[in-house]
Amino acid sequence: MQINSYDYQQIAQEFSKFFHRGSLTSSYKPILFKSIIYYLKKGKLTKLHKLDKENQIHFISIEQIARYFFRFNFVLYKKFKLKQLRSKNRSVKLYEIIDEYFPNDSGEKIPQNIPDGCIKQIMKQLFRNVIYLLRKDMYIYDFYDVNLNIIDIKQNLKDEMEFNRVLKDLGKHWVDIKYIGIPENIVHFIETQRPLLESAILANLAIFLETLNLIPNLQKKLMIADRTYTKMRNISAIEKKKLYSYQENRCFYCGDDMSNTPEADHFVPYDYLFDSKIWNIVGACQECNRKKRNFIVNEEYLGRVLERNLDNEFINRFFGDFEDLKFHISNFNQLLKLHYQNCLNYFKKISFNRKRIT
Ligand SMILES: [Zn+2]
Repeated sequence: MQINSYDYQQIAQEFSKFFHRGSLTSSYKPILFKSIIYYLKKGKLTKLHKLDKENQIHFISIEQIARYFFRFNFVLYKKFKLKQLRSKNRSVKLYEIIDEYFPNDSGEKIPQNIPDGCIKQIMKQLFRNVIYLLRKDMYIYDFYDVNLNIIDIKQNLKDEMEFNRVLKDLGKHWVDIKYIGIPENIVHFIETQRPLLESAILANLAIFLETLNLIPNLQKKLMIADRTYTKMRNISAIEKKKLYSYQENRCFYCGDDMSNTPEADHFVPYDYLFDSKIWNIVGACQECNRKKRNFIVNEEYLGRVLERNLDNEFINRFFGDFEDLKFHISNFNQLLKLHYQNCLNYFKKISFNRKRIT
């Protein structure tokens, strides 16, 4: 198929329109599009994918898109506790669905088996919140049922209400739509422009989420959810050894001897800070480290970390080569206090009691 520059320009304009209409009002749009791109990258290779060679249409399974959509949001919400609120204390419907099916999950691992009911509810949210926008801004898409029969839906839909009305008039319910059809030239455009589109989508998403969240390293977290970034979370073995010996092998939390199984703990949770600077790391016994996990602990311990960071012995061991020590360490402590306070909005607090005071 010949793809001329006009086609490309038109496609690019429609993509842009899709993302910028009504400004950035939710994470649904960018994550839906991420899922479509991911599908074209991975799903196209599986038997799920259907192609109409004669009309050059790729059929994208909405159920599969919902699965990718779930995975991305699951990481953002369960692992990084990112917030997208409808009102002050009410989260968006999507997070309620995730909580309903995975109430006790901390997000360390993406669930392999997602219940059908969960996927169905997510598909419903996609239809209600964002799929009509594909039709509104990107009239190039068509909808198909399970037998790949085209479902005749008005070219330009005004809004969600109109979308629902059209479905009703057709005597069809949203569940009848199983596939989005994407013409070959658009798939080709996405494939050739993929790195650029992926970055642009993450940037859009970051801008939107930044308006609602005060968390560090947002872009990196999005890249983790997108599986395009990995990072070592630990300090080096040498630093660990130095830290444990500085603490005289006593657990920072309970004060017990930890020489058998010392562990490095991120005082402000790693999944919040996304950094492994020594001013936020304490040595802990295995028991305390496991109990603490991704939680935040009482202020008493914050005071102790701040104090520890200013201790001469600690400074000599870890910050000896800094030129203006006082300046740097007071900055680290300011930052630590700020992160600690802000983290309380995201991660749960648990109370920790020292067994004895040393
Ligand atoms: Zn302990």
